[in-house]
Amino acid sequence: MKNTERKLTFAANWKMNHGVAEARAFAEKFLALTSSSDGLKLWFFPPAVSIAALAAALKNRPDITVGAQNVHWEPRGAYTGAISIPMVIEAGARLTLVGHSERRHLFGETDEQVARKTRAALAAGITPLVCVGETLSERDGGRTEQVIVRQIGAVLQALEVEAWREVVLAYEPVWAIGTGKNATPDDAAQIHELIRMELGRSGVSFPVPILYGGSVNAGNVASLLTQPQLDGVLVGGASLDPAGWADVIARGSQAKVRPSGGFDVVES
Ligand code: PEP
Repeated sequence: MKNTERKLTFAANWKMNHGVAEARAFAEKFLALTSSSDGLKLWFFPPAVSIAALAAALKNRPDITVGAQNVHWEPRGAYTGAISIPMVIEAGARLTLVGHSERRHLFGETDEQVARKTRAALAAGITPLVCVGETLSERDGGRTEQVIVRQIGAVLQALEVEAWREVVLAYEPVWAIGTGKNATPDDAAQIHELIRMELGRSGVSFPVPILYGGSVNAGNVASLLTQPQLDGVLVGGASLDPAGWADVIARGSQAKVRPSGGFDVVES
């Protein structure tokens, strides 16, 4: 299955949580609570040190893919503390987050670096999950659209149109990440539309999957996923506990019954 196939996607970003032992313990519990589903894609982004252990623990589940939270665009060299794409592939990653807002805002990652990482991931044959989103002050200043267009524009400039067939995007408003505030389903859907229009204007006429992220939890996942513009969710805090994450997936997948969307309906 191609990672960019438009199946309902639940992506777990563990951030700086769950080292090797905790990742293994999570996998054991999660596997006991869930079974493989043809209609879903479950993605896990553990810390880099846990990629190999998690990928090994989950290897018998065809619906699950493990990814990196961040990579360098160079394959090797004098970049202390950085991890290359070949290294995460060797560890078992088949995806990578690119431009998560914590990378952009806490570590100063630029649009240009995001574009280079995206291009390097594609060249190495793994799927980049490219994150975009506005800060609270940008939103309050009425600049949401401008910021999203700029962030997407940097990646558009770096890629051939056909390369977008292998890209997945996440709209993650920075003000909603880890804050308990989430965009309303309508707000999220509107920005997803804006992103699709922007891609279309640049000749990307096929559907690029777009996930929503920002304080998604078991209580709000169903209403967000009733929006046909959302192809899934990218979740931090609510993905850390195996039972809680299994609950988010169960509730979200049952909400996604949409005649026009082309997704499988997941039976309980
Ligand atoms: C994230 O880390 O991408 C995220 C959306 O975090 P949270 O769900 O905790 O807001």
